[in-house]
Amino acid sequence: MSSTTNVRKDWDTYFMDIAYMVSTRSRCTRRHVGAVLVQGKKLLGTAYNGAPSGVPDCSEAGCMIAEQYELAVVDGVEQMVKKERCIRTIHAEQNLLLFTDRIDREGSTVYVTDQPCWTCANMLANSGVQEIIYHRAYPKDSDKVNWLMEQKGLAFRHMTGYVPPDQTAGITAP
Ligand SMILES: [Zn+2]
Ligand SMILES: [Zn+2]
Repeated sequence: MSSTTNVRKDWDTYFMDIAYMVSTRSRCTRRHVGAVLVQGKKLLGTAYNGAPSGVPDCSEAGCMIAEQYELAVVDGVEQMVKKERCIRTIHAEQNLLLFTDRIDREGSTVYVTDQPCWTCANMLANSGVQEIIYHRAYPKDSDKVNWLMEQKGLAFRHMTGYVPPDQTAGITAP
């Protein structure tokens, strides 16, 4: 897939490549996620999913799996659906918000390797970010996340046809 010809990368590819590079810092054994904040063409922040600094991470202490039940409509019938998540980590998008300033986020774009979960999408929707671009789909939450983005009038774009840099797209458990 990779080409040695001197083709200049477009900005979307450039920033998504950086998000994937950042994701390789993650030590969660279930999922490596990277996110970057971009204002204009300027990189203003990077973050990945992980335990708070100074606290044992998933590779040391194991993932902290929590079960969660959620009302969902499956084949037209409402039912409780069980979901498992690792709650040891702060998600990349949340770390990005913790490490950037509100004023820098106004009207900005976030590139994130994975489609945000509901909680991250909800926080991003209230963060000043104007556009979210992701690569890997996260179907579990995508219906309500898409609805939220539409309600909020945020640009929400799936980068299809994108290929991450070699050896950066390691781990994604469902
Ligand atoms: Zn984990
Ligand atoms: Zn999340």
